[in-house]
Amino acid sequence: MRYKIKMKPSDFTEAFIPVQGRPFRFKDPDPKRSWNWREYLRPIYDNMYRKLVLKTSRQVEKSTTQANRYITYSALIPFFRSIYVTPTAKQARIFSNDRLRKSIRTSEFINKYFVDTNTTDQVFEQTFINESTIFIGYAFLTADTMRGLSADMLGIDEFQDVLSDNVPVLREALTASDYKLLMYTGTPKTFDNHLEKEWQKSFQAVWVIKCQGCNKYNRMDSEPEKLLGKNGIICKKCGKPLRTQNGMWIKMNPSSEEAGFHISQLQTGRVQRPADWKDLLSKVERYPEHQVYNEVFGLSYDSSDRPITQAMIQAAATGPFLTALDTSVTKNNHVFMGVDWGENKGSFNVCVVGGFVDSKRFQIYHFRKFAPNEKPDEILGEIVRLFRAFRCQVIGCDHGAGHKENLRLQEILGFEKVWEIFHANQGVSHKWDQDRLMYITDRTRIMDNLIIPIQENQVIFPEWKYMNKPFKFDNNRSFADDFTSLTKEYSERSRKFL
Ligand SMILES: [Zn+2]
Repeated sequence: MRYKIKMKPSDFTEAFIPVQGRPFRFKDPDPKRSWNWREYLRPIYDNMYRKLVLKTSRQVEKSTTQANRYITYSALIPFFRSIYVTPTAKQARIFSNDRLRKSIRTSEFINKYFVDTNTTDQVFEQTFINESTIFIGYAFLTADTMRGLSADMLGIDEFQDVLSDNVPVLREALTASDYKLLMYTGTPKTFDNHLEKEWQKSFQAVWVIKCQGCNKYNRMDSEPEKLLGKNGIICKKCGKPLRTQNGMWIKMNPSSEEAGFHISQLQTGRVQRPADWKDLLSKVERYPEHQVYNEVFGLSYDSSDRPITQAMIQAAATGPFLTALDTSVTKNNHVFMGVDWGENKGSFNVCVVGGFVDSKRFQIYHFRKFAPNEKPDEILGEIVRLFRAFRCQVIGCDHGAGHKENLRLQEILGFEKVWEIFHANQGVSHKWDQDRLMYITDRTRIMDNLIIPIQENQVIFPEWKYMNKPFKFDNNRSFADDFTSLTKEYSERSRKFL
């Protein structure tokens, strides 16, 4: 016998799915248990978002939310097929045994109407009487075990640890579905992690609590340290206690149609219990800062082994993005161009236009990353066009992959305008090599000549929306990512030479 129920997934969950043996409540009817509150999760339960990103702290009931979503959708929609994927087999087993199967087993309602002796109850597969199926799998190094499956909903958990190369393979599963529901969930790491990238593309719903004292709107995702009071969260401005129950979701990027929710431990009802708050404060004290940001606040963090952080670039992204010389910006200063020839194996042809705006500060006016399918002649033509459009004085081009191109540029623009540069390890910052007709530089010194001014806010970049724009052909990396992905090892080694 088949049953069809019409009900909101959140109401279905409350009515029929216990969690760890106890009834699940969005809002506890007992006023003494006001900490047992999680109404901010309702939109996540009840909207069938085509794409949903959950960027969360640890211990914010992420697994429970997911398990409930799988079970309710499977119960409410006959023939619904869903896939849960996580990086390791162990994580997949824990999710299946400790969350999914436990909830199914302990729900009287599901047991009575949705499973029987003909349905499958296995670690990696759950079926229901209404022909709905949940597959559970893992994709660490490869997604091979998941190849060929088809589904209406695909959830990738611990998304930050899944290799980004595997994501398109996994997404194949949704090709034939009418629903095509995609869900990425995880705990953030660095700003260049793909979880953060997906979050950036989403509508970025953030929990915001209005202070009853001074009316300040307190966002959970910015300056979280200021929310930490002695006994619970407090207003960043006036220090009065805040109640998460007075909060609301606000979209920081409302023009996006992709759903994204940031869930911090600070907004959970749970931390209103004194013991849980104490525990949270002690973690903030004991854990290294990046871990506190990732696991307690649910935020990305540029770890200190990266000399250039996203925050630095963002703060310096105050200039315009020009497409030709504009003397109202460049004044009478000389403009230069630099070209880095890539090999199209993870490195691409890039050209940058910039100049000094005063004795210290250098401003970038334009940059261009060329797609691997652009023809060499077209790229060369574009470089020449930009060189002329900006009336550049000199173009510095790296030797190596582009030597032939450099010779062609010299032919077109003149030998004295096109400097070929070879980055070596030679100890002197730069010298002219008369035999090879090129400049030889010290690679690490040259890197420091870029890194240190950026750190000291002496480089001005174009507006953030240009800096942060993902390049599809480059694994969605942006121009800013090319700076923030540098590792400190490099610059510290170089410091020794200074
Ligand atoms: Zn206040």
